Parts: sequence; C-alpha cells; structure tokens
Amino acid sequence: MSEIKKVTLVTGATRGIGKAIAISLAKAGHTVIGTATSEAGANAISEYLKSFGGEGAVLNVTDKENIDKVIADVTARHGDITVLVNNAGITKDGLFLRMKEEDWDQVMDTNLKAVFLLSKAVIRGMTKVRFGRIVNISSVVGFMGNPGQVNYSSSKAGVVAFSKSLAKELGSRNITVNCVAPGFIQTDMTDVLTDEAKAAYLQNVALNRFGSVDDIANSVKFLVEDTGGYITGSTIHVNGGLYM
Ligand code: NAP
Repeated sequence: MSEIKKVTLVTGATRGIGKAIAISLAKAGHTVIGTATSEAGANAISEYLKSFGGEGAVLNVTDKENIDKVIADVTARHGDITVLVNNAGITKDGLFLRMKEEDWDQVMDTNLKAVFLLSKAVIRGMTKVRFGRIVNISSVVGFMGNPGQVNYSSSKAGVVAFSKSLAKELGSRNITVNCVAPGFIQTDMTDVLTDEAKAAYLQNVALNRFGSVDDIANSVKFLVEDTGGYITGSTIHVNGGLYM
C-alpha cells in the first residue's frame, strides 16, 4: 500500500469536520484536495493546505457536471484519486408535518445522492490502481432517529447501507468503503442548536462532553491508512456513548 500515491479528495473542507480531516490527512502525507462551494472558500483551503502540497477546489456536490470536471482536473494534475472522504453535508430540520418536499430533496441530494455521484466518479481510477479508500460521514441519528430530522437521518442511514453494498462489490479490487458516524460534534452545524437542545443531548452522552472535530478526523485517518486495511463495510461510531 505504501507505494500507492494518496491523492485524497475531502468534500466540504472549508470548516468543521471536513477541515480537520483535510489537515490530518495532509499531515499524514496525502496530497489533499479539499472542496468548498465558493471561490473564497477554495482559496482559503489552498492557503491552509499549501505547505503540504494540497489545494482547494470549488465543488457543489449536487452538481454532476461540476463533480466530473473537478475529478478530471484533479486526476490530470495529481493522478488518480485513491482516497475519497464524502464529508459535505447539510441539515434542513423541521417536524415532519411541516417539512417541505424541497427540504427532503435538498438534504437527500447533498448527503446521499452526492455520495453516489462522487463514488462513481472516482471508482474507475481506484480500480485501475487496484487501491481505494472511501469514507462516508454518516451520523448517530442515522442509527437512533431524531425528531425534526426525518430527511437528515434518512440520508445518513442511507449512506451506511450504500457503503455496505458498495464494499461488497469492490472488495475484490482492494477498495474499502466505510463510514464514520459522529455524535454531537462542536461545529457550525451544531452551533445553531438552542442551549436547551444541547443540554438535552449532553444528558445522554456517557462521556459527558461534546466531541471535537479531531475525534472524527482520527477515525477517518485510521480507516484510510494501513491501520484500516482489513476493515470494509463498517461504521466507526464516534459519539461519546450517546448511542451504543
Ligand atoms: P459544517 O460545519 O456545517 O460544514 C459543512 C461543509 O459542507 C462545509 O464545508 C460546506 O461548504 C460543505 N457543503 C455544504 N453543502 C455543500 C454542497 N452542496 N456541495 C459541496 N459542499 C457543501 O458541517 P460539519 O458539522 O463539519 O459536518 C460535516 C459532516 O459531518 C456532515 O456530513 C454532517 O452531516 C456530519 N455530521 C456532523 C455532526 C456534528 O455534530 N457536527 C454530527 C453528525 C454528522 P461551504 O463552507 O462552502 O458552504
């Protein structure tokens, strides 16, 4: 494995969990391409990855043409993508009775369909070099359910089943497909919750604290390095004991 060049695409690397993953893998020697939805975001990623030989790219994960273009550009510049971390994700919360169809569609397109499109776009290259690591960021609520999140929790359960099925298809090609399922991690995504909602979560976290972005990055790194070479179709739960 060590002779394989790790050209690593991390979606949603502007902030939060994705940024921590991008930095951690860059430090581990990967050539990391981190994605942002804006030019300014991509420039900021290029800045923090510059010293590691990585860069930012503009990518909307719901846009297939954009995906294909970014994959082609990265491949031309750095070689086949061998590690894909599908991290970009959104919430559009609301109680079911009030949830709009577009809230369902946007969340499914960003959190689940994008995982399909991006995986499809990198698989030919991984098959060619007979090495690949795909890690999809799921969520504890994909396992537990959560009121106000029928769209989000469905999308996050979906990536788990997606990963298991794809792992079975691609195992013989030395491509692993796994998930990391974060619990409550302190980022922009969770900052929007009320103090009451945060306190209610915390009551059920055995370790009695919220997780950090590095807690997630550590598990992703474990899966994509030699340490995770015999793990596929699995989910690492990183939730402080919120779900067991
Ligand atoms: P965040 O701080 O809200 O960051 C979201 C990232 O996704 C940003 O980089 C954003 O890019 C990108 N993004 C959003 N829509 C996109 C699109 N259409 N195309 C491409 N990129 C897009 O989120 P986070 O808390 O770090 O979460 C990262 C992942 O972990 C998500 O999949 C989330 O569901 C999952 N997760 C988080 C928690 C938690 O407690 N935080 C728990 C469980 C699971 P821009 O900055 O350019 O908008």
